[in-house]
Amino acid sequence: MLIPGLVDAHAHLGLASPAPPGAPPEERVRASARAQLDAGVLAIREPGGPDRASAGIGPHEGLPRTFTAGRFLTPPGSYFPGLAREVAAADLPAAAEEEARASGAWAKVIGDWVGPDGRLRANYPAEVLAEAARRVHAAGARIAVHAISAAAIEAAIEAGFDSIEHGIGLRDDHVAAMATRGIALVPTLVITSSLRQVGWWMELGLAPVAARLAAEAGVLVLAGTDAGMVPHGMVRQEIRCLLEAGLPQGSRWPPARGRRGASWGCRASRRARRRTSWPTRTTHAAPPRCSPGHPCASSTAVSSPRRRVEPSHPTSPRPGNWPPPPAIC
Ligand SMILES: [Zn+2]
Repeated sequence: MLIPGLVDAHAHLGLASPAPPGAPPEERVRASARAQLDAGVLAIREPGGPDRASAGIGPHEGLPRTFTAGRFLTPPGSYFPGLAREVAAADLPAAAEEEARASGAWAKVIGDWVGPDGRLRANYPAEVLAEAARRVHAAGARIAVHAISAAAIEAAIEAGFDSIEHGIGLRDDHVAAMATRGIALVPTLVITSSLRQVGWWMELGLAPVAARLAAEAGVLVLAGTDAGMVPHGMVRQEIRCLLEAGLPQGSRWPPARGRRGASWGCRASRRARRRTSWPTRTTHAAPPRCSPGHPCASSTAVSSPRRRVEPSHPTSPRPGNWPPPPAIC
């Protein structure tokens, strides 16, 4: 059976790269993208990174099509040291628009982080998030938020963000609002096993529950590995985590949300479809993979492909058939 290439909807190509130590950023992101390709990934969404080196990576150089958000945006001292573009609240809307215009696709805000007391705290006021979302949308791009706590999740929903990354503190009212407004969830479950023992990341143990709640409420749940925290190329493990979390297993194509949300065959919500930077509904760079069975019948169909068709294979669409780039100037 032929199935489309997979999508890792949350991977940081500049981090955990298999490139040699000291390699320049452009080499690091391409080495990571190749590792993703080897795992059957044909599209990557990068919700932030330490630099903008991932912009422009794609099938023209035999790599997965990549949608990046440019640099992480966070207040000073409120993220991993040295990784983010540090921006005070007053400057966030302009910085988000700038990253969106530079990436041509997304901007990414770190919505909460651990404070000096060891507890999660919101990084920006709700009205600042709302203005950032407005400016990014006006530029034709999308905006994602790293949000663990219920307060940060709620602020991002109210601000009109397009995706919640991690979303561990999701409540019933949150998932209902996300479903209604077409806000996606990328729960990044595969990082839980490696980080569950570390401080406040203990809360990650709740992530599978949040993912199941969201799926049951009709939220678009996407498979993203948070590669950078873990090695690149683990999307099949993430799909398995989503299925083990109890996301519904479909009986027909398109298959279960976990797999649908990880393949080119997936469909974004109506609101998401209005814009063009989701790695979905694309037929332009979806070289198929040969699997031993129907993906609905067995997850082996995804985890153990027999053969993969490379992006440069003649069955790949010609560049002239690719859809236009994201609608951003
Ligand atoms: Zn991440």
